[in-house]
Amino acid sequence: MGQVKLLLVEDDKAIADSLVEGLTAAGHTVVHVTTGAGALAERGQELVLLDLGLPDMDGRDVCRELRQRSTTPIIMLTARSEEFDRVLGLELGADDYVTKPFSLRELVARIRAVGRRTLDGPLTGDDTDPAAAQLIGSMELDRRTRRVRVDNEEIILTAKEFDLLAFLANDVGAVLTRTEILENVWDAHWYGPTKTVDAHVASLRKKLGDHGWIEAVRGVGFRLEAPK
Ligand code: CA
Repeated sequence: MGQVKLLLVEDDKAIADSLVEGLTAAGHTVVHVTTGAGALAERGQELVLLDLGLPDMDGRDVCRELRQRSTTPIIMLTARSEEFDRVLGLELGADDYVTKPFSLRELVARIRAVGRRTLDGPLTGDDTDPAAAQLIGSMELDRRTRRVRVDNEEIILTAKEFDLLAFLANDVGAVLTRTEILENVWDAHWYGPTKTVDAHVASLRKKLGDHGWIEAVRGVGFRLEAPK
């Protein structure tokens, strides 16, 4: 992944200045805003770096609003004391987070990782290759282009929702435990609250339009199957 158009939402001037400088030096284009309203007014960014503590809005509300209108990846910048927010952040659709203080190197690595999962595929045109797509009942899952269709309708998923679906689809019909899902779909640093998985399953089911796609196996985990 090369240059990324980043939107940095951060009200702390010292942090923002050094990030703009460092990220620009790393080859990215950075638009910097200091408020939630400013963030929501921006368009065209490929990835958002979002501080949680903003002067005008709760960063979680900004995240929710951004997520409602696009699948642009969001990395949250959180303070150490905001443990709870990290969980909630995922539930709101953030793709990753870094905890302050973090190094520029760490952030650049996260941008690269999130970007690899979400930005590298061909983004324009209808280039779905039927041969490359996995068929599960009426679902077409294309890992190369990261596209999903159900009954020929494209389903717009967040990066994490796609990763979750693709992981479940690796073994259609098999029950995968929450721990297995967390280990494979989330990075090791997301360990802990398994309700994160449940929240993503819930949003995925809603988008797929039929709860029958993902069956919850009580006390064990989840399985993907074409609805009967
Ligand atoms: Ca702040």
